[in-house]
Amino acid sequence: MPKTKTKQRQVVCPECGTPVKEPYKTWELVAPFPDKKMRITVTIFGMFECPKCGKKFRAVVSKAKLGSEGIEL
Ligand SMILES: [Zn+2]
Repeated sequence: MPKTKTKQRQVVCPECGTPVKEPYKTWELVAPFPDKKMRITVTIFGMFECPKCGKKFRAVVSKAKLGSEGIEL
């Protein structure tokens, strides 16, 4: 299998530790200021619901950096 650079975050329930695969809702949070390399960090948050205990929680799904050279994941 080829190695990829993509980081797949393992999201687990903060109550019982059960892994939750898919968020039922996601949204993007764009940083209001660029970093030193003039890139804007976009953070994608997700709302997750634990299939075991029903706990609803928020977690970071992924982060991306938008710069003049394109998107850096
Ligand atoms: Zn749970």
